[in-house]
Amino acid sequence: MAATRAYLDYNASAPLIAEARSAMVAALDAANPSSVHSEGRAARRLIEDARRDVARLVNAKPEHVVFTSGATEAASTLLTPDWQMGRGDVRMSHLYVCEADHPCVLGGGRFAAAQVTRIGVDRNGIADLDALTKALAAHDRADGLPLVAIHAANNETGVIQPIGRIAEIVKAARGVLVVDAVQAAGRIPIDMSAGYADYLILSSHKIGGPKGVGAIIAHADLMMPKPLINGGGQEKGHRAGTENLPGIAGFGAAARAALAGLDAMEAVAQCRDEIEAIVRELAPDAEIFGAAAPRLANTTFFAIPGLKAETAQIAFDLAGVALSAGSACSSGKVGPSHVLKAMGYGDSLGALRVSIGHTTGAGEIEAFRPALAAIAARRAGKEQAA
Ligand code: PLP
Repeated sequence: MAATRAYLDYNASAPLIAEARSAMVAALDAANPSSVHSEGRAARRLIEDARRDVARLVNAKPEHVVFTSGATEAASTLLTPDWQMGRGDVRMSHLYVCEADHPCVLGGGRFAAAQVTRIGVDRNGIADLDALTKALAAHDRADGLPLVAIHAANNETGVIQPIGRIAEIVKAARGVLVVDAVQAAGRIPIDMSAGYADYLILSSHKIGGPKGVGAIIAHADLMMPKPLINGGGQEKGHRAGTENLPGIAGFGAAARAALAGLDAMEAVAQCRDEIEAIVRELAPDAEIFGAAAPRLANTTFFAIPGLKAETAQIAFDLAGVALSAGSACSSGKVGPSHVLKAMGYGDSLGALRVSIGHTTGAGEIEAFRPALAAIAARRAGKEQAA
């Protein structure tokens, strides 16, 4: 990315960190990690080192990490009625997701639409825990177990779900909990050893690693979903196909840096607060979504009355500032945010998302201010003309 531009779209994809790039380049010449010769064993070591580093990021055991092609594949694998424990089959008869989940969870994976219940969120974006409790109480275990999937932190608003409480509710209902920690990992501490979730979903490119690699992380050696991809038995049979070695090596390096960076989130929060102060100063009528709830330190999602988000995004881009109108994960899709809709905001003109990271600093903030000032001035001009 050009140094002269201000990149404020980390939740879409965080810039590749130098350590990840070096690890990837070093892995490009690696042999097949399933080969038994020395070259193969060296390649295997790269994968197992990365597995250890990814596990450490969330305090899990390396043997419980399964590498995938990203979080979307991890979700599609986990969200299935068909599971196995040893040689026995286990059935999940219903899936409970959250209205504000990422589409890869909201879509219900391999469940039929009739087997999926969506739990709403309040005005702050927090899941309705009473509704979840009631839905699980009504679950008929005769057909199978309840599977609950929810994001730890929202990709648009940054709002953090009370996963501790949710885990208690799911445990009391003897259900299984999948947590999409794609935006939370590396931004808040996650401790799988303390029973944070039964299964976790991670994505490398949100923490400074390469795109196209992610992971499923299990809490224990219990059951696993029937694989989505069958073949040569890689990843202990949970995800076949010769491993994406450069991707996995880059993911490992990014996970190592993300763990170290957890101690420096205060500086990221300060930067985000400065950006919000500029928004409030230049557009006092702006609404910052989820501001009353616990939020990730790196995210702000706001709407300015009378300002169409897509138009403002283009104006920011022309001014050298890359940010998002809603979520950018669904590549160029223009439409109202389903997250804001779930929070009760209806079809508004849309919102702008600024998401930052450890490398964001004064330069980016200096670029953001005049860009927003110009947009706000144009809005004021239009209001006067009207
Ligand atoms: N879950 C959340 C919360 C996300 O923000 C994203 C991507 O934006 C995904 C899942 C999908 O991740 P991936 O791009 O690795 O498939």
